[in-house]
Amino acid sequence: MDLGIAGKKAIVCAASKGLGKACAESLAREGVDVTICARTEETLNATAEEIRALGGGSVTAIACDITSQAGQDAILAACPDPDILVNNAGGPPPGDFRDWDRDDWIKAVDANMLTPIFLIKATVDGMMDRKFGRIVNITSSAVKAPIDILGLSNGARAGLTGFVAGIARKTVRNNVTINGLLPGPFYTDRLISNLKVTAEKSGQSFEEAAAQKAASNPAGRFGQAEEFGDYCAYLCSAQAGYITGQNVLMDGGNFPGTL
Ligand code: NAP
Repeated sequence: MDLGIAGKKAIVCAASKGLGKACAESLAREGVDVTICARTEETLNATAEEIRALGGGSVTAIACDITSQAGQDAILAACPDPDILVNNAGGPPPGDFRDWDRDDWIKAVDANMLTPIFLIKATVDGMMDRKFGRIVNITSSAVKAPIDILGLSNGARAGLTGFVAGIARKTVRNNVTINGLLPGPFYTDRLISNLKVTAEKSGQSFEEAAAQKAASNPAGRFGQAEEFGDYCAYLCSAQAGYITGQNVLMDGGNFPGTL
């Protein structure tokens, strides 16, 4: 299936590893010119080389912290009129809400709510003028089924989700869609570090903890980042112009509800 987006321009945030990287790869394979960012320059440049080797769209790498004003300015300067915006950032740490102070909350809200909102604000009007835009916010299955130890993530992402629900119906008339893509457990560095904590706490080995967690998913496995990237590319496709304001779960069936 040709997704009809060759030659489009995309900003993919937090994309040197894991889910963001997979989204950038899938878009580049479709011939999209991608501008990617992450804080660690070396890893980012290596990823940019890998994506270039796919032989699709061009790759521009901007080393920055996307949660900072300077980071947002830098990526927008490199790609001022994107057709596609994939919002992503590292997730907040797990813990007990009794231990979090105002600074912890502000960090989480900055990264997982306000940064996507300001990047949408900076790009959505241009997309509407040009009559094409696809915005995908990488959030979490925790938006539908909050996870107790991830209170910072539950709270900040719920704020973003509520905001997007309000505007996604205002942009679609101009062929600009805004959707959330909600990962369940995908085998990335983030999941590996969470599994290490679980293993330590339970006295299991990493392998035992990982096998137990994978087996508890209806699919009997973790998701692969490539699966996520291809779904993201579909949501960014020409064909997906009638999908907006949705929060699409990709979790192997882990969420037990019907809706
Ligand atoms: P990952 O494998 O740890 O990759 C995170 C990527 O984001 C890296 O490229 C990292 O590079 C970059 N990054 C982090 N903070 C950044 C910042 N402030 N500015 C720019 N780049 C930044 O994580 P992942 O598994 O792909 O997760 C992506 C998002 O999905 C996270 O918000 C996570 O909480 C959420 N999520 C993941 C899962 C899962 O199972 N994997 C499940 C639910 C939700 P640098 O560190 O060099 O900046």
